Amino acid sequence: MKIHEYQAKNMFSSYGIPVEKHILCHSVDEAAAAYVDLNADKVMLKAQVLTGGRGKAGGVKLAESMGDVIKYSGPMFQMKIKDLPVTRILVSEAVNIESEFYVSFSVDRKSRAVILMLSSDGGIEIEEVAKYTPENIYKIKIDPFVGVPDYLARRIAFFLFDDMELINQMVQILQTAYQLFIDKDALMLEMNPLVLTDEKNLVAIDAKMTFDDNALFRQEDICFFCEPTEEEEMELHAKAKGFSYVHLSGDIGCMVNGAGLAMATMDMIKHNEGYPANFLDIGGSSNPKKITEAMKILLEDDRLKVILINIFGGITRCDDVANGLLKACELLHTDIPIVVRLTGTNEEEGKTLLRKSNFLVADTMCEAVRMAVNQSIKAG
Ligand code: GDP
Ligand code: MN
Repeated sequence: MKIHEYQAKNMFSSYGIPVEKHILCHSVDEAAAAYVDLNADKVMLKAQVLTGGRGKAGGVKLAESMGDVIKYSGPMFQMKIKDLPVTRILVSEAVNIESEFYVSFSVDRKSRAVILMLSSDGGIEIEEVAKYTPENIYKIKIDPFVGVPDYLARRIAFFLFDDMELINQMVQILQTAYQLFIDKDALMLEMNPLVLTDEKNLVAIDAKMTFDDNALFRQEDICFFCEPTEEEEMELHAKAKGFSYVHLSGDIGCMVNGAGLAMATMDMIKHNEGYPANFLDIGGSSNPKKITEAMKILLEDDRLKVILINIFGGITRCDDVANGLLKACELLHTDIPIVVRLTGTNEEEGKTLLRKSNFLVADTMCEAVRMAVNQSIKAG
């Protein structure tokens, strides 16, 4: 789970990691009032969206007057960054930067530990630094039983600084950031940049945190920040109905029984150069109500060009599934072509029922997938 910069900054503050003064705004009027309240010559306007690349998209602006604040915040509130509307802008006191650093803690699967990454090339994407000047990145594996004790924090701080005053500030930032990371079951905590100001203070002027979804049951304050996207809403909605559903980027809607068969179906679609729109596992039951619910979930997705239904009848009877599908289509009316492959218990009865209506009935999985991919191509 991701949270906004302002939420991460508030958490940083509560742990004692220095951040610049800032006020969250929901409108141009609020931004104007924040400019007055901050009482600073220069402020930064920062769009709050749960995605990266905000600066590049024009979501970070320096405003040097009330006129600037109004001129920039208006269009910023109209912006969409990677399809996400900007509903909040963080107005913060602009600091005078002497140098920018990169600091992050993240869970690293390969080393099975938390990795601290540091770089004196802050402010740019760490992927860029890793590509062009990897020698400028320090990576330190943190022993979970030891954490970041004083001696280690000091040794790390010396990678970037030699002034004792800055070393002390850095030690405190590293230790509290690690504590915050551990306390909240974070997967990532990033300051990019952590800056050295002209007053010789270290300040985190950008903050990013993501959290382990599997630990949210014990992180009530983090759950409170949850803002599911439209896609995540769809997934939650499907889960509430008892389906395993994953939203994907293609145009072939899939309804399959069993996770293994669903995976095989995705593979077969890809193999035939098609694009699945989702993974939907309806489980073992052939209850017509459940099939209608599953069809409803699929049909809510307006990207679909075709629906592919792939059912293996074991305890599930193919004729029950066929009856469920007929009922669902009676209720839901759709023009989208529906390809069905049924195999196993009462297969022939099921197919006979479907052939009487508009379904495209296939005999094998391979044939069904090819038919679905062709339909998706035909629909353009
Ligand atoms: P991002 O582009 O979404 O990562 O947004 P950041 O908050 O990291 O800001 C991007 C860049 O804008 C920083 O690396 C800085 O170079 C610059 N910037 C941000 N805030 C300030 C500020 O208060 N003062 C100055 N001088 N530059 C800033
Ligand atoms: Mn940044």
